[in-house]
Amino acid sequence: MIRVRLPEPPQELVDKGAVELEKARAHFGNAANAGKPFAFGAYKLGPVKDALNATFGFKCAYCESFFGATQPLDVEHFRPKSGVLVGSDLVWGVYYWLAASWGNLLPSCTDCNRPRKQTLPEGGEQTLGKANQFPISSEAKRAAKEGEEKGESRLLVHPCLDHPEKHLLFEANGIVSWRSRKGEESIRVYALLRRGLVQARRDFQRLPDGAGRLPKPALLMNTSESMRPKSIGSALPEQASRNAFSIRRRPSPRNRAKSLQVPAGTMAISTDLSFFF
Ligand SMILES: [Zn+2]
Repeated sequence: MIRVRLPEPPQELVDKGAVELEKARAHFGNAANAGKPFAFGAYKLGPVKDALNATFGFKCAYCESFFGATQPLDVEHFRPKSGVLVGSDLVWGVYYWLAASWGNLLPSCTDCNRPRKQTLPEGGEQTLGKANQFPISSEAKRAAKEGEEKGESRLLVHPCLDHPEKHLLFEANGIVSWRSRKGEESIRVYALLRRGLVQARRDFQRLPDGAGRLPKPALLMNTSESMRPKSIGSALPEQASRNAFSIRRRPSPRNRAKSLQVPAGTMAISTDLSFFF
């Protein structure tokens, strides 16, 4: 995971998201609808997917796997839109107001986003994947209505709101360890230690220096055609395939401070998300 800065939200998301939010408020505000799903749709509009793909380079926001060549984009809700898992219970009616909120939408691969049986580096299998998880430091502060999420102390690293390198340490052998509790929870929830991912990061380390740099997002924007995976494949075939991970070698104590700087591949498009989190 690397830090990424979002562009302004697609206008279609803003417009249709506002209409949808009013309907969602009516749905979730009616006790007779308790437990009933709501048909959200604004978050998966074409312009939203295009913008996320362009911003993240067709990569998963959590594990940086390049999914553009093989699978469609899963628009992931950082705070889940259809209930949050608290212990073993799915709490209904939480975070629905963020279903079309730009800062709450991220591109995700299937393995990070959905519960799937994963093989761990040391062997053994475990069902992992984010799904409806959103751990916070105190359940007493869990949002129950709009705006209260600002009072939560979240335990998941967000690629646009945090500096991931302050929470995660990617080792030369492909293993990722944590530098904070937020990092520890993120590794668990995003399944960042699944064996295939560890192997891919290890392989990445064997590439020549500089091979892992991200393509500049500007190369991927401006035309709908250029946002499609096939366009990346033709324009940046080798680079795209090598940019699946942004692994950094363990810094020596002398170089530790330097290692906390934002990586070279950080996206340069800015927007202010402080209103949201
Ligand atoms: Zn992923």
